[in-house]
Amino acid sequence: MFAEKITPYYRNLIDRICPDGPLASMVRHSDRERQIRPEERADPTGDGRWQRGANGRLIHHYPGRALLLVTDRCAAHCRFCFRRHRLSRPSPDLTTEELTEACAYLAAHGEIHEVILSGGDPLSLADEDLTAVIGAVRKAGARSVRLHTRYPVYDPARCEGFGPVAAQLDAIVVHVNHRLEITPEFLRAVRALRPARFLLNQSVLLKGVNDTEEELVGLSVALGEAGILPYYLHYPDLAPGISHFRIPLESAMRLVQALPGRLPGYLVPRLILDIPDGKGKIVLAGQGRRRRAAGVYLFTAPLTGETVTYREAL
Ligand code: SF4
Repeated sequence: MFAEKITPYYRNLIDRICPDGPLASMVRHSDRERQIRPEERADPTGDGRWQRGANGRLIHHYPGRALLLVTDRCAAHCRFCFRRHRLSRPSPDLTTEELTEACAYLAAHGEIHEVILSGGDPLSLADEDLTAVIGAVRKAGARSVRLHTRYPVYDPARCEGFGPVAAQLDAIVVHVNHRLEITPEFLRAVRALRPARFLLNQSVLLKGVNDTEEELVGLSVALGEAGILPYYLHYPDLAPGISHFRIPLESAMRLVQALPGRLPGYLVPRLILDIPDGKGKIVLAGQGRRRRAAGVYLFTAPLTGETVTYREAL
């Protein structure tokens, strides 16, 4: 059971702006989560296949970058979370021994030039601990360090005073899914993240939340006004119990194809699908996919070149 967890700030925002609206559906448990589709799986992105070290804290999937899971804690629980299996049974935060082990792996794999701090949400750690992690991975050879967080949305006050840590990062990727999440408090939090070299956003395309042209355009415009570039729009992974958040792939592609006519190119996010079982991310565009039957697609896996059958789980 993936427990419901909502911060007082976000609960207040929901109550104030839209008690039964899109923000509520992202964090409130729904009975529809009991419906598990046969295509769904506990580890939808196949992290397990690429985990390195005793406790699997480092995920080395793509040659040039690796993901370091520094915590299993988040400010709040997104009901569509693709790591819900991990967050439901959280391990303690990254230990010194695990960090040492991860750094030894990085030092032995010079091809890894970027380390991505993820989890859980890395901002669940104290600033001093994050500074220690960033320093250690840089010493082990990482030329670029990126951090992903949804704290500016769920608990913007956490970002106060974060500037000195942000200054050590090459990129911070925030996770905003709806324009109503861009509040004065969010904007203040973003100012604290600004010392990072790049500020990007990734969203998840969610039925009933942001699955219309109007919403996606509104979100990109609001992000642009906040000085944040929309980067990825993820089609929801095959995590169990989240089929009520998915729309048909064809509809997702149609939606995104309409955006360049309404937005400057730099505000158009790329629609991304993570091919299950760790076979890699693809940009869902005109090329590289073939539809075989209703809800069944053939994709070319980016890393191996193999043809993969993908079945929609609606
Ligand atoms: S912030 Fe990310 S890791 Fe945490 S619950 Fe939401 S989707 Fe999952």
